[in-house]
Amino acid sequence: MRLRLRTTLSLQLSILVLVMAFLVSIASRVLISRQFETYVTEQQKAEADEIANNVESQYGAAQDGWNIDYVHGMGMYALDEGFIIRLYDKEKQILWDAENHDMTLCHEVMESIRTRMQESQPEMQGDFVSHTYELKRQEEIVGYLDVDYYTPYYMNENDFQFVSALNRILLVIGLASLAAAVILGILLADRITEPLRNVVRVTKQISDGDYRARVDRSGRTQELYELTDAVNRMAASLSEQENLRRQLTSDVAHELRTPVANISSYVELMMEGVLEPTPERLQSCYNELKRLSALIRDLQRLEEEETAGIHLEKTETELTELAETVLKSFETRLQEKQITAEITGERSVIHADRARLQQVLVNLISNAVKYTDEGGFIQIEIRDHADHSTICVADTGIGIPEEDLEKVFERFYRTDKSRNRKTGGAGIGLSIAKAVVQAHGGTITCESENGKGSRFIVMLPK
Ligand code: ADP
Repeated sequence: MRLRLRTTLSLQLSILVLVMAFLVSIASRVLISRQFETYVTEQQKAEADEIANNVESQYGAAQDGWNIDYVHGMGMYALDEGFIIRLYDKEKQILWDAENHDMTLCHEVMESIRTRMQESQPEMQGDFVSHTYELKRQEEIVGYLDVDYYTPYYMNENDFQFVSALNRILLVIGLASLAAAVILGILLADRITEPLRNVVRVTKQISDGDYRARVDRSGRTQELYELTDAVNRMAASLSEQENLRRQLTSDVAHELRTPVANISSYVELMMEGVLEPTPERLQSCYNELKRLSALIRDLQRLEEEETAGIHLEKTETELTELAETVLKSFETRLQEKQITAEITGERSVIHADRARLQQVLVNLISNAVKYTDEGGFIQIEIRDHADHSTICVADTGIGIPEEDLEKVFERFYRTDKSRNRKTGGAGIGLSIAKAVVQAHGGTITCESENGKGSRFIVMLPK
């Protein structure tokens, strides 16, 4: 079973706070108890000292020698507090002994203290120990007092009440922190996971095809900010891809429809004998088929470019010679349209993928030929610089409207769809050229004046 992140986090945070609270309460209990034991031990010693002092101060106060009545009162009071006293004169003869006086009571008191302490502190193993005080009058010993009490310490009723009150308070604090831990854990987990839940919700929307969905970038932590940013960029790119795909489908359908319709109607009429299969008609069918195969070739190239990325096989390439080779392949078309073409500039050698660069030149020159009217002029200029080379393909053709200059490098972009359908382009050539140039670390730009001609400038680093 998979737990929700919120639940896991709440649980972990609660456990963490709980463990902390538990440790703190245990530590404080141990420390307070230890402090309290020290306090009780000292208190007991102070009380014994006090009893001895009191007895000592009574010597010779009202009469000569010891006031046995007072000692008796004191002894009974001390017994009540858990102290058993025994008074001796300076010759160590017993004058007053609590045990002699009331043995039963003494044993009862001792027994009750022993039982109580053994029950509450069985590990202490304490017992009654006798502490002897020398009683003096003006620096002269006048007697001795034995004070027996439970050592190391014992706790009376009040002390026990204090300790149990303390335990109760610690328990209440523990329970309160448990509740606080749970509430805090839930709140914190809720806060931490909220942006994540947003991301999950939006990615679900995106996976359901809603590419306009965007994550609100409210995450305050760097990672969450990056995550939401990445999801938004992914959505944007998916939406772009989706648009391109739609456009591709509609473009491809459009491109295919006309030649296929033309060919089928011609062939049908010729089969039925309505039309003669004259060389002109066959040529027209052949031209349409050529357009179809050109389109299929373009689509294939695009697919290659997108799936495999561009892998370059670089060699030393001389650009003027390359341009000459490409231009030669356009000889017939140039003659047909009576376009003059020349290569100017200088030799320039760069390290590049020859076949790919040839493709770039083919695309640029074929556009120049396509979009230049009869009798026009095409110039290919190669320039050699210290760290880069430039190839400029300029024509005196129809030009490109200013608002389209940026877009002509986008896939399937054509400045004027109806016009281009006749010339046969699908709007892929320049996007392929741009991808190749960029893969070489170069740039491709376009300058044009509508109606007067265009210049495509390729810059390639050496
Ligand atoms: P296409 O196959 O349609 O020529 P490209 O990607 O090569 O596709 O070019 C995109 C669009 O840019 C063309 O459809 C055309 O409108 C415009 N274009 C490209 N080169 C030229 C040029 N030399 N003169 C005028 N327009 C051009």
